[in-house]
Order: sequence, then C-alpha cells, then structure tokens
Amino acid sequence: MANTHQFQTEVRQLLDIVIHAFYSDREVFVRELVSNASDALEKLRLKQLTNAAVYEPERELRITITTDEEGKTLTISDAGIGMTQDEVIEYLGTIAHSGTKKFLEMMKESQSGTQDLIGQFGVGFYSVFMAADSVEVTTRFWQPDATPVKWTSDGREGYTLEDAPADTPRGTSILIHLKEDATDFSRAEHLRHIISRYSNFVGFPIDFNGEHLNTVQAIWMKNKKDVTAEEYESFYKYIAHTESAPLTYMHFSADAPIVLNSVLFVPQDNPEAFGFGRCEPNVALYCHKVLIDNKPENLLPDWLRFLAGVVDSEDLPLNISREMLQDNSLLRRISGIITKRFIKHLETLAKDDADKYETFWQQFSRFIKEGVVTSWEHKDALGKLLRFESTFTEAGKLTSFADYISRMKENQKDIYVLYGASRAQLEHSPYLDALKARGFEVAFFTDGGDQFVIDTLMKVEDKEIKSIDRSNLDLPPLKAQPDTPGLDAEEATGLTSWLSSTFSEAFSKVTTSDRVTSAPAIALQGENDISPEIKAYMKAMGQPVPESHPEIALNPHSPIVQKLAELRTKDEALATLLAEQIMNTALLRAGMLDDPAKLADNSQALLEKLLSK
Ligand code: ADP
Ligand code: MG
Repeated sequence: MANTHQFQTEVRQLLDIVIHAFYSDREVFVRELVSNASDALEKLRLKQLTNAAVYEPERELRITITTDEEGKTLTISDAGIGMTQDEVIEYLGTIAHSGTKKFLEMMKESQSGTQDLIGQFGVGFYSVFMAADSVEVTTRFWQPDATPVKWTSDGREGYTLEDAPADTPRGTSILIHLKEDATDFSRAEHLRHIISRYSNFVGFPIDFNGEHLNTVQAIWMKNKKDVTAEEYESFYKYIAHTESAPLTYMHFSADAPIVLNSVLFVPQDNPEAFGFGRCEPNVALYCHKVLIDNKPENLLPDWLRFLAGVVDSEDLPLNISREMLQDNSLLRRISGIITKRFIKHLETLAKDDADKYETFWQQFSRFIKEGVVTSWEHKDALGKLLRFESTFTEAGKLTSFADYISRMKENQKDIYVLYGASRAQLEHSPYLDALKARGFEVAFFTDGGDQFVIDTLMKVEDKEIKSIDRSNLDLPPLKAQPDTPGLDAEEATGLTSWLSSTFSEAFSKVTTSDRVTSAPAIALQGENDISPEIKAYMKAMGQPVPESHPEIALNPHSPIVQKLAELRTKDEALATLLAEQIMNTALLRAGMLDDPAKLADNSQALLEKLLSK
C-alpha cells in the first residue's frame, strides 16, 4: 500500500529553485549522492567495528553506479547504513540538514543570483531534482529486523512511501529517471568523467557499470611530497561540497607524542559574511582512516569553525561516543597541537606570501580576533597575526605588531593604540598630539570589538599595549616646548583647581598637559576605568555599569583656555558655561559623553549669554 505525503513548505521552495538550476550546475547532484553513499558506508563500518549485529554482515562496503542510456536512468547504490521509514520521512521530506537550511536562508536573503549559490553550497539530496523527472529511493536499515522502504517522488508536491520487497539488500539504492534534457547523465562516458574527478577521495570502492573505478586514498595519511596541489584542491572540493579552490591549506603529520595526520583547508570566502549566522565546523575526525565523526563539535576551538578538513589519530578509541568526544583529554591535546600548527601555518603564509595573507585577513580577521579573546593559551601567537593601519601607514595599507615594534623609537616603552570608527576620524584625533610630538607610531583599531581584543591581548612580546586616551600614559618628556604663549604656572594652577572643585562630580581631576596641542582639551579615561565599548556592551547585557572617573587635560597654549583663565575671575557664570562646553566636547570626542543633550543645552545657554553681551 502506497501512502502519499506532502513535502514540508521549505522543501517545496528549495525544490522550486533546484529544478530551475543552471544547466552547468547540474552535475553537482552526482557528487552529493556519492558523498551520501560514502557517509552511509562510513557509518556502517563504524557499527561493524564496534561489534553491532548488522544485517548481511558479509556484504561488501562499496558504492555501485550503473547507467542505462536507453532507459534514460542512472542508479547510485550503497551497502551502507540505510534508513528506517521515520528517517526517510525526516531526511527526504523536510529540511533536516543544516547546510540545506543555510542554503535556503541565503537564497531568501539574496535578491539576485540565487542560482549561483547552488554550485557553491551543497544542497544535499534534493539536488537530484536538477536532473531528475522522478526518483525512487529503496532502502533497508542496518538492523536485522528492519522493514525495507521505497520512496518515490517527482520533486513537486510530495512523495509516496510503500514497503519495498523483502529481499531488498542492506543500504540504499537511488534510481533516477532523467529529464529529457538531462539524459547525458545516463551516458557512461559522461558520467565516468564526472565521477573520476573526485572518486579517489571517496573512502570506498566505486563500481561503475561493473568496472572498478577508483583507488581509494586517504591523502592525509600520505607524505606531503607525494600529493599534488591538484589533489589537495580536488579533495577540498569534495569534502567542502564546493566548486571553488581553497585559499590556503595545511598538511601536518606527527608521530610523537600523538600519532596525528591532518589536512586543513581555508575556504576562499568567509562563510559568515553577509550576516548569515554561524557556520558549522567541517573538520572530520578519523581513527586510522575510519571515520568517527563527520562534524564533531568540539574538535577544534570554536574560532576555527571556518576550516574544512580531516584530523586522523590512531591513538583514539574507535568506539568513542559523542559524549566522550565532548570531554576527552586526548582530544583536547590533539586540538591544542593542531591549533598551534595552524597558527604557525598562517605566520609562515604571512611571511612568504603577504598578499595572500592579506586576502585571508580581509575575510577571516574576525575569527582571529575571536581567537585572541577566547583561546587564552594561543592569544600571544594570535596577536602576531593581527593587522591594522597606523599613523605610519598609508590609508588602506596594513601593518603588524612585529613591524610596529621594529619601528619603535629608542625612548619608546609601550605600543600605542587608538580606537574609533574609521581611519579618517582617528587621523584628526587630538589624542595623537602627544604621540606625534614625540615621533611615536599609533596603531588604529576601527572594528567593533577591537577594544576587547586589545584589552585581552595586553602585550606583544614584552611590550605593553596602551590606549592613548588613557590618563596613565608614561610618556618621555618633550625636548622642545611649543613657542606659542601659554598659561604660566600660577594661572594654570588657579584654573585647574577652580575647575577641579567646580566639576568634582563629573571629573576626577582637571590638569594642564602637553598631551594636547590641537584642541582646547581632551578627556582621558581613568587608570581603572572600563573602556566605552565594554561599558556599552555591559549596558546592552543589562549589567550594572560601574561609574567612570574621567580626567580632563587642558591645552595651556589654547587661546580658548587662556580666555577661560581670564574669565574665571571676571565673569564666573560665563566661565562656568564655557568650561562645561570645552569639557563636554572633549567627552563627546572620547565617546564618553553619556548624555549628548547636555552638550546641546549647554551650547544654547552659552550662545544666549554671549549674544546678550
Ligand atoms: P547531508 O548529507 O549533508 O546530511 P543530505 O541532504 O545529502 O544532507 O542528506 C540528508 C540525510 O539523508 C543524510 O544526513 C542521511 O541521514 C540521509 N541519507 C541521504 N542519503 C543516504 C544514503 N545513501 N544512505 C543513508 N542515509 C542517507
Ligand atoms: Mg549529503
């Protein structure tokens, strides 16, 4: 008895796109089905190795592909793990797979060029309808008492389910009736050509029209010297379900203290660009060529989730469960070793191919920064990978802390940084005055989150990193003093002590300083104050925000400040308004003004007062 089922709405939407896919993208479905067959065989192999009682235990683990040019069909079968009826309903009737879900999201977001995405992202099983008029899936689950099921669909509204013959062998067989304009896929030569491109990376023999097609090779177990760049590239395309080449890759083997073989790939583009949420890690875990888990969650640190590849260790127990994967000290060591090697790989890349590293940086900088904040043991190594602009670079050109340190002046102790929205904004910051006067370089950080990153990093080599809007900058004295007239010592003390007492609630201190020359005043964060960015974050998280104690540094050579000193004794009311204006403007510039309305009210009062004179 056949039962009719409706596809989930999302599946129908997906199929509608898939059916109209570009002709050139169509062949992607072959890779998807072969990779599913391979996954199913891997799962079965693991069952057998961990001593589960399997139906037809002697049945060979292989993929069988047959073409029938006359019948315009193509069949892809495997002796893998199979599916229960419930699984068939879930996997072949809803969007269960997260990659497919993501594809659907992308497609909804993107106004144009949705078709392009099919080639770039694995659409999974449903891609078969790019070439199929109708599809029959016959499957028997691995457990001896399972009932075989047959699923049939034309990829439109829904599918039918019925019992399959009792003699259905273990695994899954997919019979594809090709569309009139897709009969090419039933031509043996054409299909052989498609399959041969990646078949050597499939972990099981492929039998093609009765002929053995591939020599199975786990390239991560080979010696680096014996693998060509093309092989790495094809392997990447196969595991990442993509048509684009990797940006860079690392092949790493070790015998001690742990036997390890790993190949890791960095994709061409940041999969989380355009705000598409977190990507899933795609580094599979193997134990001596046996797949343990396709996408283990905690294998590598979270900030490396953009990587694709394989980690293989003979030292792992084969029957390791998901729970054990969560908390296994050997895995933690493996993760540490591989992370370290990968960081080193990036360092070498930066040295040997600066352009390529910069491309990497443009795409993946936020992951590296996330690593600084979340991977304490790697933060120093990661700090060296950071890139930024500075007062010494041309606009758009990047530099590193290593280069910065090599340019440090003899009397310069610390590394200086400044945060802001853009280089253009930072270039005009009065905080730079003191550093410019001493010929010191200042690094610009313009991404949201940069203050967290630098606050966590704290040091590079043995040099402390100091934000130049802080009060506790330990700068060497200036040799030459400006030749513009300034307040004398008495005037300065008079003014600052009056301001300190008048505004004691708002500021911890008011001083005159040579740290500012291009503006009347700057606001400085107190030594133990929390930076504005972190304050904003705490506020957003609903946490209580500790009070700040900013200081004001006045420029004693500013005509406005000199005027203020004079006014203090002549017209205290006007002097108070003027002082407030100067100091609130400094706060505003520093991102520390909590209430901008204050500044507006004050400037209005000040103008009224001045104009009524
Ligand atoms: P993915 O392979 O990324 O999970 P697919 O759309 O390709 O996504 O497949 C969805 C699910 O259908 C698989 O996760 C698997 O559980 C099931 N499946 C597909 N093909 C097979 C097969 N040949 N044997 C067993 N299960 C399969
Ligand atoms: Mg798949």
